[in-house]
Amino acid sequence: MATAVTEEVVDYDEVLERYDPVMGLEVHVELNTATKMFCGCATEFGAEPNSQVCPVCLGLPGALPVVNDKAVESAIRIGLALNCEIATWCRFARKNYFYPDMPKNFQTSQYDEPIAFNGHLDVELEDGTTYRVEIERAHMEEDTGKSLHVGGSTGRIHGAEYSLVDYNRAGIPLIEIVTRPLTGAGGRAPEVAKAYVGALRELLRALGVSDVKMEQGSLRCDANVSLRPKVGDATSEEQAAVPLGTRTETKNVNSLRSVERAVRYEITRQAAILDKGGKITQETRHWHEDTGVTTSGREKSDAEDYRYFPEPDLVPVAPTRETVDALRRTLPEPPGERRRRLQADWGYSDLEMRDVMNAGAVELISETVAAGATPAGARKWWTGELARRANAEGRSVEDFGVTPTHIAELDGLVRDGRLNDSMARQVLEGVLAGEGTPTEVADARGLELVQDDGALEAAVDKVIEANADVAQKVRDGKVQAAGALIGQVMKEMRGQADAGKAREIILAKLTG
Ligand code: ADP
Ligand code: MG
Ligand code: ZN
Repeated sequence: MATAVTEEVVDYDEVLERYDPVMGLEVHVELNTATKMFCGCATEFGAEPNSQVCPVCLGLPGALPVVNDKAVESAIRIGLALNCEIATWCRFARKNYFYPDMPKNFQTSQYDEPIAFNGHLDVELEDGTTYRVEIERAHMEEDTGKSLHVGGSTGRIHGAEYSLVDYNRAGIPLIEIVTRPLTGAGGRAPEVAKAYVGALRELLRALGVSDVKMEQGSLRCDANVSLRPKVGDATSEEQAAVPLGTRTETKNVNSLRSVERAVRYEITRQAAILDKGGKITQETRHWHEDTGVTTSGREKSDAEDYRYFPEPDLVPVAPTRETVDALRRTLPEPPGERRRRLQADWGYSDLEMRDVMNAGAVELISETVAAGATPAGARKWWTGELARRANAEGRSVEDFGVTPTHIAELDGLVRDGRLNDSMARQVLEGVLAGEGTPTEVADARGLELVQDDGALEAAVDKVIEANADVAQKVRDGKVQAAGALIGQVMKEMRGQADAGKAREIILAKLTG
């Protein structure tokens, strides 16, 4: 195993006194098309290794590729959503290099003729300000296979006994979205990086073109970072005129939080080298989630010779303007606008809306409200109990098998007065355990508030009699003391009463 040497770093705030960070982000998006980019093979995640392959994606002699129209459509829609120009005519190109997980020994990609270029995406930062990310291009390419290194302790190639290759992923359509060098963010560069990848993910999800699961690799980010001397504030003209420093490219950073951490770490690492009069090596680097550092990968010059040339086996892609216009009409409402509209509709505060976003629950809440829940009820369940569980178990709320319809039904049972809060939580337990719908669980477990006010009143009388001292305090004006009585009444009713109603009756009897 390559031992990770801990490199020196400079305190982040100190870096910003002397350097101006610049970054460029390359995001690879796996499209969710049913078939691969140039053949009819299935693209399903997690299938038996090498069960989704054919002569085309295995690069067997004489096999001929045919472009997937659906993938081109998705590429154009992504380009349009990123405010790009769409090429009237463009080609695929062969990017030649050898790697065992790439059976053709070249990757079919696009080079100087990308399908989309010159765009931008405005991203919102935590403080409500907007940063415009300039998009250089979005191009089509195909994914590589996957190597599995066996026998070592790290799963990396170093120290492994042997390697296995799975070509199921080879040929899955990818869109690579490349930003221009992003300047002017200053110390907020890491935040901008995270916000951009987050906004991009939200946009791609709204477009419905990808699963955008960073943990499964359907959205992958490479972060390029460089420093240049600081001569003014980040946005000044003087600062903008300073030439860019040498960049490093940290590969495959696979969560939003890691994007932020990796950019931040690189900034502090590069500063330590520059402070000593050293030079930054232009190289790829690996991000280590556990230790929070990057380590050197391979040196990579700008002039790397991939011997790109136009792919002779594929016809050019030349979307008509009518096609592009028709696709433009299929674009969803921009996520930022939609979010603001939903927040207003639902009456959430900024803080509540942020919680919802952090829990990844916008869609779920939207569907739950559509299924009849109150916005407050929907938010309570998805960002409360369920988000807590998801966090604790390191899962996503969508994976519990609880649907928006379930939550709407549960919310309805509380609103109709059939369940109180603690009963509703028990019902949710049952739904999570696969016992059925909320109504089925409540029926099966015999959970139902006692609607009979007579029974509740009798319980209140009994409790007041048994706790005369506490009752007297309430009579004397110490209303907080009623809490203890409510607790007793709930116990008396074996939890099957409405605590609010119990409180009303107690106060009416003692102070009314
Ligand atoms: P590569 O083939 O090395 O991946 P790309 O053109 O695909 O090159 O992507 C390079 C990325 O790095 C782009 O996002 C670009 O804006 C960014 N970049 C280029 N130069 C610098 C620099 N000096 N500092 C930071 N980012 C840079
Ligand atoms: Mg690149
Ligand atoms: Zn195939």
